[in-house]
Amino acid sequence: MRLPLVAGNWKMHKDHREAVDLVRELDGLLAGLEGVEVAVCPPFTALSDVARTLKESRSRIVLGAQGGYRAPEGAYTGEISPRMLKALEVHYVIVGHSERREIIGEGDQLVAAKARAVLEEGMVPILCVGETLEEREEGKAESKVRGQLESALAAWSSDEASALVIAYEPIWAIGTGKTATPEDAQEMNSFIRGWLAERFGQDTASGVRILYGGSVKPDNAAELMAMPDVDGALVGGASLKAADFAAIARFRE
Ligand code: PEP
Repeated sequence: MRLPLVAGNWKMHKDHREAVDLVRELDGLLAGLEGVEVAVCPPFTALSDVARTLKESRSRIVLGAQGGYRAPEGAYTGEISPRMLKALEVHYVIVGHSERREIIGEGDQLVAAKARAVLEEGMVPILCVGETLEEREEGKAESKVRGQLESALAAWSSDEASALVIAYEPIWAIGTGKTATPEDAQEMNSFIRGWLAERFGQDTASGVRILYGGSVKPDNAAELMAMPDVDGALVGGASLKAADFAAIARFRE
């Protein structure tokens, strides 16, 4: 059985004080929740304060980050290393998010190097893959996702891959209010699991959590996560409101 993971990607929202307020409120709303892992990925400037807040309140919320460079340290002005994230007890790191690929221009090679760097520091990458609307309409969604998986995971062994989390995030559904249907999400997540089985074997594939992301809200979370290959959600906009995010995490109730 795969433990569902509901992860909040706060993107470039919340300064360190607002972040602490949000995580405190969320922690209160999640009291007593069992059987779902909840993670938050605040911006870099808030990680330290959020980490301290989670520790002080003995929260079960897991800390994630939104990225990190590919090297442990060095002359990379403006970058943050996975080692620095690890020192803050970050557990998950989002890699290959479409906003990084499309807006910042990160290519497949850099995504692959970053995913490896996260793994090598003993953290877990949440590897994002997904197609544009045009690619979907042209019937190229699966080939796009396959290409992203092949390049990001080319150097991974089966053992390494078993720790991975993948998030299928169709670009046309991110921040647009357009959600993939549960059937669309299931179809792609099952395709991803099939690819993992071919590449790493069935045992590894069965253990990898594959999330869906793209306009997940309290009113669509349950039907998406009821799908057999949708093992949780990566949530952007709705993770900025404690009540909405908590309602998503409580999708079974
Ligand atoms: C995201 O950015 O990972 C995301 C899924 O955003 P939203 O939930 O706002 O569509």
